[in-house]
Amino acid sequence: MDKKLDVQKPLNVESNISRRDAIKLMGLSPVAAAVIANSATATEAQAATDVQGKIVILGGGAGGIMAMAHLRSKISNPDITIVAPNEIHLYQPGQVFIATGVYEPEDILMSNNDFIPDDVKWIKDEAKTIDADNNKITLRSGEELSYDYLVVATGIEYHYEWIKGLTKEDIGTNGLASVYLSDLEKGTATGGSTGWTWLKAMTQDVKDGKNPRAIFTQPSTPIKCGGAPQKMLYLCADYMKEKKLNTEMIFATSSGKLFPLANVDTELHKTQDGYKGMSTKFKHNLTAVDVKNKKATFHHAYNHTDEWGTESREEDVILDYDYLHIVPPMSPVDAVKKSSLVWKEGKAKGWLEVDKFTLQHRRYENVFGIGDVCGIPMGKTGGSARHHAPIMAKNLISAMGKKTLKEKFDGYTVCPLKPRYGEIIMAEFGYDGPMPSIPFWTDISVPRASWWIFDVYMLKPMYKHLMMRGLM
Ligand SMILES: Cc1cc2nc3c(=O)[nH]c(=O)nc-3n(C[C@H](O)[C@H](O)[C@H](O)COP(=O)(O)OP(=O)(O)OC[C@H]3O[C@@H](n4cnc5c(N)ncnc54)[C@H](O)[C@@H]3O)c2cc1C
Repeated sequence: MDKKLDVQKPLNVESNISRRDAIKLMGLSPVAAAVIANSATATEAQAATDVQGKIVILGGGAGGIMAMAHLRSKISNPDITIVAPNEIHLYQPGQVFIATGVYEPEDILMSNNDFIPDDVKWIKDEAKTIDADNNKITLRSGEELSYDYLVVATGIEYHYEWIKGLTKEDIGTNGLASVYLSDLEKGTATGGSTGWTWLKAMTQDVKDGKNPRAIFTQPSTPIKCGGAPQKMLYLCADYMKEKKLNTEMIFATSSGKLFPLANVDTELHKTQDGYKGMSTKFKHNLTAVDVKNKKATFHHAYNHTDEWGTESREEDVILDYDYLHIVPPMSPVDAVKKSSLVWKEGKAKGWLEVDKFTLQHRRYENVFGIGDVCGIPMGKTGGSARHHAPIMAKNLISAMGKKTLKEKFDGYTVCPLKPRYGEIIMAEFGYDGPMPSIPFWTDISVPRASWWIFDVYMLKPMYKHLMMRGLM
């Protein structure tokens, strides 16, 4: 786990793996092949459209790169600029596998050099401000950048500092871990593996006859990959169980449910019942951590019922812990938050104000959104961004051609919950309910070994060779 981080050597984008090779690669897994066969968004070569205008994409993560790839393949002479500070491109779903000993840190490192071709102008900087009334971006360098069309793909920012007494630097010390903090952000190859070193330390404590208490949190803000807090909980518990060890594990979540869909929620309750020593505290939102004395404070809102009736109550609950897995509160980045592009009120306040179907900004017709930054009801997942990409690109091209926007996002999101090593509940759903990729696996709450194989072995090459190239 201490190996040095190393970005893979840049490949020539044009000579990369062919579509045929990629399909062969996926042929290794019948499940993956079926996913492709059923993918509504798999793109065949498309007739290039002759529309004019300078497109600026902000962000070079999953959404920004997919937006670029789809737009580039659909416009005959595209004028695309991407503002992306990062050469290293993290395959973020793999962070859970690093934290639970399945992947090594370097397994999730990709390079934007592989994805951004020479005919796209790449500015390795960040947007500091966005002036949507004048179609202008100011970069951190001070340089100004104008656009005709803007795609916002700046993702999410973590706020460990919103938890009183905590800083990002505390993660990895004093029994604290967070699967969200990657090795890269921590600046060390062992940092983001805080989860893995943490789990091994906890295991050792139990072997030594101690009975440590581990608490896993989930905040009240929207988070990316809403399933990640529970993925960590169950895989850590299963790791212990497999070693015939047992300890107290508390899931302290600000939510009132384990999952929004009833059948998945029921399955997760069953999962919890299978782990001795596991319990959940609903409506518990982590507000403060006393790092030195290992005490966590939660805001608990609840309904109290007695012979006089029911009333809403609030209290602070302080729990001692030995190990604390923190999922930080999250928000869009400052450049977006402080711009005129965000919702001013409502549940999505502060997030990008796009239409939930077209992904076009509701007030600025030349602005579109993709990925986690979007203030829409469903999903902050790479799976959602994959479904956004072709829809957003086609609608943006329609806007450039002064045509009606026809494409509609159906709310698709995916949550590969891991109740134990070797099995995944592939919870795929959208605005109108379940949306299984494999049509005959209609019950999305069933844990399946095939999905584990798919997630561990197939999804990463598909992400790299197909999704990031706009091929699915
Ligand atoms: C632990 C973990 C597990 C996950 N598991 C899954 C999973 O199993 N399945 C799944 O589908 N998804 C999963 N996800 C979520 C998935 O990775 C994200 O939803 C996806 O990366 C969203 O893409 P994005 O482009 O919106 O954001 P990102 O990929 O995060 O990219 C945002 C980019 O914007 C850049 N940026 C930020 N600010 C600026 C600025 N001011 N100017 C320019 N650029 C800027 C950043 O550098 C970053 O590269 C997981 C995420 C994590 C952290």
